[in-house]
Amino acid sequence: MSILFYCNFSNKKQWLNSVKKKFSTNKIFTIKDKPDFLKIEYAIVWNLPDNIMKKLKNVKIIFSLGAGVDHIINLPSYNKTPIVRVKDINMAERMSYHVHSQILTYQLKLYLFQKAQIQKKWLGEQHTKLNRELTIGIIGLGFLGNHVGKYLSNLNYNVIGFKRENKNKESKIKIYTKKNLNKFLNLSDIVVSILPDTEKTKNFINKKFLSLMKKNSFLINIGRGSTLNEQDLLLHLNKNKSFHVSLDVFKIEPLPKKNKFWTHKNVIITPHAAALTDIDSSINHMFKRLKDYKKTGKIKSDVNLIKGY
Ligand code: NDP
Repeated sequence: MSILFYCNFSNKKQWLNSVKKKFSTNKIFTIKDKPDFLKIEYAIVWNLPDNIMKKLKNVKIIFSLGAGVDHIINLPSYNKTPIVRVKDINMAERMSYHVHSQILTYQLKLYLFQKAQIQKKWLGEQHTKLNRELTIGIIGLGFLGNHVGKYLSNLNYNVIGFKRENKNKESKIKIYTKKNLNKFLNLSDIVVSILPDTEKTKNFINKKFLSLMKKNSFLINIGRGSTLNEQDLLLHLNKNKSFHVSLDVFKIEPLPKKNKFWTHKNVIITPHAAALTDIDSSINHMFKRLKDYKKTGKIKSDVNLIKGY
């Protein structure tokens, strides 16, 4: 059985070694090995170039090395091969820590102290809200969003969710949908977006959306950069001095040096680091899915191509 491994992570050697160890009875190739692409049956990938995807004519399953699948389904040569993506509890746990850290930075006004320190300014005490006084609105209440939501609920924050369908088997979090986005944004002191990149979510957070948010609220974007209109956000930040954002994902990554977000005083930037993919648990997950497939001959894709995620 031949597997192609491809990713551009900085620790790609570590990934490759772990894949080789776990799938030790298989032939693992990278592009450098110049394999016969027609013999590749499975591909484990992140940001595979389209010219390679085009050559994978007999691939049966594509494994995404992350939770997002936009890097596969947006390739022109992708032809509906079933996709298995990472659904990892460790990733969800790390994402919850990230979101909580950003909430606390805003809630406890730590950003003010950080700025004051640079100016050697003693600000003194600031009034801060208690967890139960804040409503956190999570946009995209899927695998990761639900985990983050439960984590924050357990800390006594009021949590509400926004998603496509008005049903949620995973938790008791109150759901809002497109028809009551106004109300959802009106209630939220902090909005956390964990949306995937799809045709429908492109520039979802735009001028209109931002104008519906509370004037002194806080936006955390950890879904995908494509879901946010960066120009609209800059204008909104410049008009509303008490509006703050924490951005982990961007239209262009790494974020270009000339991008104005770098130096904006109400913007916190993290480098697409909200939740890294845990090597061991993700590889174990792929191994298990492949084992099940070999036993049953059936594989259910984790991606609904009509919905686009
Ligand atoms: P899921 O597919 O489990 O959840 C996606 C959620 O988004 C669902 O609740 C879905 O609604 C909702 N959604 C999709 N389209 C729309 C829409 N048009 N309007 C409203 N809601 C919508 O994905 P995960 O939770 O596993 O991952 C979400 C995303 O997080 C990934 O796609 C990836 O982009 C990002 N991510 C970011 C990381 C980082 O480090 N910054 C790390 C890992 C992932 P419904 O439930 O109704 O179908």
